[in-house]
Amino acid sequence: MGIRSGVDYINALKSRQPEVWLGGRKIKDLTNEPVFKQPIKELARLFDMQHDAKYQDKITHICQETGERVNNAFLIPRNGEDLKARRELFEVWAQATFGLMGRTPDFLGTVITAMASNDWFFRQYGEQWGDNIVNYYKYIRDNDLFLTHAIINPQNDRSKASNEQEDTYTHLGVVKETEEGLIVRGSKMLATLAPLTDEVIIYSYPSFKPGDEKYAISFALPIDTPGLRILCREETQNGTRSTWDHPLASRFEEMDAMLVFNDVLVPWDRVFINQNVEAGNLLYPKTGINLQPSHQSGVRGLVKLSFATEVACSVADSIGVDGFLNVQNQLAELLQGVETIRALVRVSEYEYVMTPYGEAIPAIIPLETVRGLLPKLYPRAVEILQIIGAGGLLMSPTGADFANPELTDDMNKHYVGRSGVAADERVRLFKLAWDLCGEAFGQRLVQYERYYSGDPIRKMAMFYGMHKRNNPTYPMVQKALEDSLEMSRTAVTN
Ligand SMILES: Cc1cc2nc3c(=O)[nH]c(=O)nc-3n(C[C@H](O)[C@H](O)[C@H](O)COP(=O)(O)OP(=O)(O)OC[C@H]3O[C@@H](n4cnc5c(N)ncnc54)[C@H](O)[C@@H]3O)c2cc1C
Repeated sequence: MGIRSGVDYINALKSRQPEVWLGGRKIKDLTNEPVFKQPIKELARLFDMQHDAKYQDKITHICQETGERVNNAFLIPRNGEDLKARRELFEVWAQATFGLMGRTPDFLGTVITAMASNDWFFRQYGEQWGDNIVNYYKYIRDNDLFLTHAIINPQNDRSKASNEQEDTYTHLGVVKETEEGLIVRGSKMLATLAPLTDEVIIYSYPSFKPGDEKYAISFALPIDTPGLRILCREETQNGTRSTWDHPLASRFEEMDAMLVFNDVLVPWDRVFINQNVEAGNLLYPKTGINLQPSHQSGVRGLVKLSFATEVACSVADSIGVDGFLNVQNQLAELLQGVETIRALVRVSEYEYVMTPYGEAIPAIIPLETVRGLLPKLYPRAVEILQIIGAGGLLMSPTGADFANPELTDDMNKHYVGRSGVAADERVRLFKLAWDLCGEAFGQRLVQYERYYSGDPIRKMAMFYGMHKRNNPTYPMVQKALEDSLEMSRTAVTN
């Protein structure tokens, strides 16, 4: 089939009936549900870009194996040029959503490609698991499917392992094996965009302890598989607020959902890891499958941080406060944050390493540094936006106020910005800023940046651990100490 269009994507959504719950209601018609309508259009636009001559060569390529055009997420990088082709896809799609949608189809496309190019890992535990991941990759690639993923268990009692929870099937685990496959029961906490995807893949961070065998699984299923229940969080906007008043929240609501599996059958050909604690724990560290998607997240996060920085600069300029020293300092802090992330992403590409299996992977240290910095830089950008916008952020009237002729004079006089910035222009800009830094929509975006790649506290500790492993000695310190010893000896003999 090759690359899909927006219409293909929407038709696929219409053709199935996943069990999606929102606000106590079972959703019957996803594509006409107010909260999903605009996000579906935004996602469809990404698929359409694959057919647009302006973007096609940047975001797709001809698959060597099939001769069909496929998305660059499915390109197994063999060199720096391939990584650049990947980055162009990440950039083009992130720019189309201002980086505000984190789990666009390129994210999981990249994960599946990384898994398939590390099929050796799955084969260690059984040839069939390796065959399964490779066949699944081909299926996703050739049908241009859009996936969600769920890694984390729900927050029940974090001080206990999965097998120690009061109900040992609170967390997703295997109930039994049958001729057809695995029967799984329990939940995973968070799958972003789940209602709007074609498929879901399950895997985990390395966290299994002995006794956790039944939880150490990885598999993929169609999102409308019987028994799979999708419980959406409360929406941050209900799809009825205008784009004038909420230029971002009205477009980019990226719904998050809990996945509950009620004795769901996972066919054998969709199983990648089967009840194996060692495989579950080593998947990340041995394959580096997190690095290719980290490249996507880094590029996407850079676009989001650049966008928030542009908004902060525009707000400051629109009310004439960007001449003040303190404001300039805050804006420069943001600009330098953007440049830092840009440099790190580029370094990760230039310093890529080749695995023994012929895959070019971006360098881990700069990418993990991005992952450490973004959870601090993005919330700081939002804070600076709040500080610079100050009271004006709260004081915006609505599009309806501007549309009422009785209020026109007041609107134009009292909401005007610095010379040359008309009232409606200033108010619309402040509303856009408020979507980012005040609305529930914006708070979710902050929470996303903090947590999308795992707990930042533990990730920082892991980063230090990696540094220590790679640097068992500190040669510069030793040299300085030796030098000083040598110099003091020389001083004595002189
Ligand atoms: C908006 C959003 C979208 C997301 N999308 C997805 C998605 O699509 N798919 C997906 O799989 N995941 C997704 N995630 C989940 C994300 O992976 C987790 O939020 C993240 O891994 C942190 O886990 P947690 O939320 O369970 O927090 P916890 O692990 O429960 O942590 C809670 C607090 O306790 C501390 N803590 C907990 N355990 C320990 C410990 N052992 N040692 C020290 N401190 C500890 C943490 O530092 C933290 O402060 C998303 C998260 C967010 C916020």
